[in-house]
Amino acid sequence: MANTRRKKMIPVLVTAGPTREKIDPVRFISNYSTGTFGYAIAREAFRRGHDVTLVSGPTHIASPRGVRLLKIETALEMRREVLKRAKPGTLVIMAAAVCDWAPMKMAAGKIKRKSSGLSIKLKENPDILKELGQSRKNILVGFALETEDLEKNALEKLKKKQLDMVVANKLTKKNVLFGSGATDVVIIDRFGRKTVYRGRTKQELAKIILDKASNFNI
Ligand code: C5P
Repeated sequence: MANTRRKKMIPVLVTAGPTREKIDPVRFISNYSTGTFGYAIAREAFRRGHDVTLVSGPTHIASPRGVRLLKIETALEMRREVLKRAKPGTLVIMAAAVCDWAPMKMAAGKIKRKSSGLSIKLKENPDILKELGQSRKNILVGFALETEDLEKNALEKLKKKQLDMVVANKLTKKNVLFGSGATDVVIIDRFGRKTVYRGRTKQELAKIILDKASNFNI
């Protein structure tokens, strides 16, 4: 029997989409993430026979068939679900665009307009991926979206967060990353191996990412 067929399928946990950090009952801070990449990875992982959990921020994408879908809004909610469900040995792919900051406190009522303007104090959100990296119990794949020094910043992230692999893409005016369409990415692993992929769909990249991640053991 082929070696790959004998290999036990490890559980896969994917995060996707943006988080929303509440300012008041009707307003929030967020980002342009659509969740396309994370959902494509979750779908492909299920197709390959993995037990798949998807922790997703708000998106317009239909629930993928066969995938355990947990919908969250804030980074803190995402953290709670991820830490609860990333059992030792799970392959965790953090494709979510987690907001790095959240308002210091959420106003109980809708904030009224004032001529003096409004300042909102922000606090840093916990870094979920870094926390997982420190526990050293999972195979970890992170994403890095950069506007400059793509490889340098991606490599720093790989080391700082103790990842097995980082998928990095650069945000430029002509390369619209959010949503569907072809994307250029650089994948760097913890052995320093680097591969550049140009003009690939997120479905194609989902296959590549899962193929590469299957080479890592915990
Ligand atoms: O540091 P940066 O936000 O660029 O790192 C991106 C990677 O870290 C992504 O994989 C993202 O899902 C993850 N992340 C996280 N918790 C945060 C911020 C980012 O897990 N608070």
